[in-house]
Amino acid sequence: MKIFNTLSRRKEEFVPLEPGKVKMYVCGPTVYNFIHIGNARPMIIFDTVRRYFEYKGYDVNYVSNFTDVDDKIIKKAIEEGVDAETISKRYIAECKKDMADMNVKPATTHPQATQEIQGMLEMIQTLIDKGHAYVAADGTVYFRTKSFPEYGKLCHQPMEELQAGARISVGEVKEDPMDFAVWKAAKPGEPAWDTPWGSKGRPGWHIECSVMSKRYLGDQIDIHAGGEDLIFPHHENEIAQSECANDKTFANYWMHNGFLNIDNVKMSKSLGNFFTVREITEKYDPQVLRFFMLSAHYRGPLNFSADLMQASKNGLDRILNGVEKLCDLEKKVEAKGMSQEEEAKVAEAKNQIQKFEAAMEDDFNTADAITAIFELVRLSNSTANEAASKEYVTYLKETIEKLCDVLGIITEKKEEVLDEEIEALIQARQQARKEKNFALADEIRGRLSDMGIILEDTREGVKWKRA
Ligand code: AMP
Ligand code: ZN
Repeated sequence: MKIFNTLSRRKEEFVPLEPGKVKMYVCGPTVYNFIHIGNARPMIIFDTVRRYFEYKGYDVNYVSNFTDVDDKIIKKAIEEGVDAETISKRYIAECKKDMADMNVKPATTHPQATQEIQGMLEMIQTLIDKGHAYVAADGTVYFRTKSFPEYGKLCHQPMEELQAGARISVGEVKEDPMDFAVWKAAKPGEPAWDTPWGSKGRPGWHIECSVMSKRYLGDQIDIHAGGEDLIFPHHENEIAQSECANDKTFANYWMHNGFLNIDNVKMSKSLGNFFTVREITEKYDPQVLRFFMLSAHYRGPLNFSADLMQASKNGLDRILNGVEKLCDLEKKVEAKGMSQEEEAKVAEAKNQIQKFEAAMEDDFNTADAITAIFELVRLSNSTANEAASKEYVTYLKETIEKLCDVLGIITEKKEEVLDEEIEALIQARQQARKEKNFALADEIRGRLSDMGIILEDTREGVKWKRA
């Protein structure tokens, strides 16, 4: 399996630290708002990477954090007149809902920065003791960047160039413009923790990931991942901290996804040019969003547009309809062994499985992997019919389902499940009306309307249709 490693800027053969196991850390979102579909890109991509490793039989320990202490969270808390924890708790819960919608598996561990302060204090103390960090006059602890000669190895910038770009902001008291904060001295009204070196405060963003990765995966990990905006300074600084504290190579492979753009500009909260996952999944099936993300190579930029979403919907429907047809056939066809002709078609299908795997093993080329699934659907549409054997139909169905599952695409038609849910809600509404609880009846009608369901009271009872 080949992975493009940002560290070497080459595709490298993947060799795990421990045979059969993958230790993987993916930088998660800062939780002060609903996540946008740019944040969803790394979630979907690296979930797919994880799923492929699992398909290949690896035991994956997947850690992804929530940054729950940060300037933006504090700002939002002040705006709302609540504490920072109220904000972070709310948006962690919302983020988890979005992840479930997009069929992103929960991580093995989802650590939260504020729960890991002890580990941060320990790592910072180690860095201070080793001369890699110092407490400045205002109580901020800075990493002494020049103490790590390999600084710049991930972003491939020589130290001199990074130095030329570095600035000291007003009020900062650091030795060198390149030094970065590992611990921020407390400001009034902000969340703050006591420290062994005396200055109450809160962690810097970079130290959080170094520490959470160490705690849940150990000093050395296989893969560290995130969006390409994290290469510098976030990941570069994580490397400096972890390697200086632990005296070991931090991560063997660094993977970075390209930006999700809108009109060729990076989607970001600060620019305001974003759509939240929630907004998009109100308009489209979340699976369409997932399929859209996987239809391009993860390292390239991806422009969001209604046209591309429509194309993704069409592509996804082709697969789902193909599987549905196989499900229907499975109930009808004769339970007999495969014919010789069918055996030959199975060989063709196996060829597509190989193509799927080859695509995924070439740095997770999901676009080509999807093409292999389309080929399987085409094969199925042209060869599976009522005269086919059950064995053949089942083989095709299970094969397509298995490969879709690697991409996190759910093949069972959602509508059937939905229909039941709708019927149950309508029943509940009827009951409420019988009991003259019109407020509840109206509320249920509203919920159905949010789901795009229109109710009609007819003489034969309540009928419903999709808007
Ligand atoms: P943040 O909450 O900004 O720290 O971002 C969380 C994750 O989303 C990081 O891995 C970012 O690199 C990633 N990310 C943010 N914006 C985009 C975007 N427009 N396209 C792709 N990835 C993004
Ligand atoms: Zn991180």
